[in-house]
Amino acid sequence: MIDLRSDTVTKPTEAMRSAMASAEVGDDVYREDPTVARLEDLAAKMLGKEAGLFVVSGTMGNQVAIMTHTQRGDELITEAESHIFYYEVGDIAMLSGVQARQVPGKRGVMDPDDVKHAIRDSSNIHFPRTSLIAVENTHNRGGGKIWPIEYVREIAGTAHDRGIAVHMDGARIFNAAVASGIGADVWASYADSVMFCLSKGLCAPIGSLLVGSRDYIERARKNRKRLGGGLRQAGIIAAAGIVALESMVDRLAEDHANAKLLASELAALGYGADPAEAETNMAMVDVSASGRDAPSFVEAIKQKGVLCNAVTPTTVRLVTHHDVTADDCRMAVEAFKSLL
Ligand SMILES: *Cc1c(COP(=O)(O)O)cnc(C)c1O
Repeated sequence: MIDLRSDTVTKPTEAMRSAMASAEVGDDVYREDPTVARLEDLAAKMLGKEAGLFVVSGTMGNQVAIMTHTQRGDELITEAESHIFYYEVGDIAMLSGVQARQVPGKRGVMDPDDVKHAIRDSSNIHFPRTSLIAVENTHNRGGGKIWPIEYVREIAGTAHDRGIAVHMDGARIFNAAVASGIGADVWASYADSVMFCLSKGLCAPIGSLLVGSRDYIERARKNRKRLGGGLRQAGIIAAAGIVALESMVDRLAEDHANAKLLASELAALGYGADPAEAETNMAMVDVSASGRDAPSFVEAIKQKGVLCNAVTPTTVRLVTHHDVTADDCRMAVEAFKSLL
């Protein structure tokens, strides 16, 4: 099976497994796990922030971030198909008691003027307080879209002028950094907090990081505990995360080249795909040319040995990662060809 469903299917590398086996550990709720501390410091340094917090998942990282920035009854501005709104089980409302003001974007990118106009004037007795703006980079449902950095800068400028915090859902911030040539620390410099995942293209088995100022991360640490996320000898899994950050970032360029290869070869076959839009490790493919809708296409191509997910009634998403090679991608193209 060639598994193009997600970069979350990546298995830990041998280097990760041996680092895990020999990790020095302690009780991290007592702040005594040296490996977790090393990972949190490394993450903060790479993102140009004062402090980091290890969490078990991207969802936990985003939700701890939101809980730490907001109060109940606040409003959060986020793109209409953002992960925090679309894929986090209603957590914004359930855990933080915050409502989402959804701004529709283009492939996940919000227009800075639309964001500006969505900010509430809380002196009006009818309105909630806008306390947070979230930006997702790269954007998942946008097909791995990288934000134009000037849009991020403008939105952050508007937010900070109004005393509003900015959170970056940077689950794939290193894909954005490698593909754009703009450092992860530069992207992060516009946000008060950034979450990124170790368990996606970076191949670690478990874990994400939340980074920000020292004071913010101290408050986030308490909220993580509140959600049951205080971990004990977590150095076992943090050790794999250190390997991920030290050795798996630069190779993301291979995944990006493979996504481009898929998009350009599938477009040449007559599928709806655009290599220019395959900016990072995803290719969105309209499968109408096969005479099938996306869910039945997914079933048909599975019979040919390729796994992918339907993301709209007509579109499937192909995600490239460490565990699929360029040859695997060429074989996947053959499978697509056989379904025309
Ligand atoms: C995967 C993802 C998350 C959540 O990560 P989990 O570890 O699956 O909870 C958050 N944001 C984006 C953009 C993602 O792609």
